[in-house]
Amino acid sequence: MSVLDLARPEIRAMQPYSSARMEASGGQVFLNANESAWAPVGDDGLGCNRYPEPQPAALVEALATLYVVRREQLLVGRGSDEAIDLLVRAFCRAGEDAILIQPPTFGMYAVCARIQNAGVIEVALQADFTLDVDAILAAVTPAVKLVFICTPNNPTGQLVPRASVEQLAQTLADRALLVVDEAYVEFTDAGDASVADLIDRYDNLAVLRTLSKAWALAGARIGSLLANAEVIALLKRIMPPYPLPLPCVEAALIALSGWGQVNARNHVAIVRNQRARMQEALRQLPGVREVLPSQANFLAVRFDDAAAVYRQLLAAGIVVRDVRRYPNLGDALRITIGTPDENGRVLSELKKAAMSGRGVTGKPASGEYA
Ligand SMILES: *Cc1c(COP(=O)(O)O)cnc(C)c1O
Repeated sequence: MSVLDLARPEIRAMQPYSSARMEASGGQVFLNANESAWAPVGDDGLGCNRYPEPQPAALVEALATLYVVRREQLLVGRGSDEAIDLLVRAFCRAGEDAILIQPPTFGMYAVCARIQNAGVIEVALQADFTLDVDAILAAVTPAVKLVFICTPNNPTGQLVPRASVEQLAQTLADRALLVVDEAYVEFTDAGDASVADLIDRYDNLAVLRTLSKAWALAGARIGSLLANAEVIALLKRIMPPYPLPLPCVEAALIALSGWGQVNARNHVAIVRNQRARMQEALRQLPGVREVLPSQANFLAVRFDDAAAVYRQLLAAGIVVRDVRRYPNLGDALRITIGTPDENGRVLSELKKAAMSGRGVTGKPASGEYA
């Protein structure tokens, strides 16, 4: 059995759109795509009058090197969000198939499923936000085509052990594609906790990576899917013809250059240090119930009165993420790690409230938190 047997048969059978850019090779004068023959003002040699390569060779090469996979095992698109959407559309028949997720987790998996009219089966994370492998396996029905796991998980921050990923991939073979979202993996203490090396061993394993977080390119929208070459080839059939704007590709290539990499690694190191600092400092504050251990560039923090803290920070011009709508996080805010200065502002704002005698709860602080 091939992993493609899990995909929608009509997608496997369809004839993909063949764009002018794909058909052009070896030419010198391009009169096949109705482009302008003249570059726009301010183009500066970029060549924006031409349609971009569907999968820019230099970028694919750089990303494949970074993630240590073969080029045919990588699809680059507009953020990992696009890869999530493509996976759902290629594998889930509307009204019949389903995805499986573990709340509280990243919202886009369910959003893409709902757009496709695929079912969403939820297996909650355990009380300590670790993955319940047995519960997941027990919940996988024949309708489930994709199982998403997020590691480190957004919004809680913990890592899924590699052994759990392997157990899931192995047990789900021929039943479902396991999609491991590693958007924050660069921030883990271990440094390289990626499971991308396992895609050679499990053809039903796919890994999502992004340049949006550790690589500081959220605005350029560059994400990758690493998977079996057959899965990548299938998704290329349904991807829009020219997904990646030239200026974004250019920005990514600079970020992935030698000095770009040094820069990114420096910032990741600062984030790790600051994460430890914030974890420690927040735990000491009155009104803070718990700081969840995190391997990502954010902390989920439980407060006695999260709504009041949210409003208080906002009044000081600091915007954090209110995650109280997520299961088991009814008292929590998610705070991204910023510059040392920005983090200091968060701490001094929260301390100010505590010292004003109100605590961050709006109630008297003295004796309340002993
Ligand atoms: C931020 C984030 C992404 C990144 O999405 P992009 O589309 O690549 O910007 C993916 N997964 C999770 C869990 C995230 O938090």
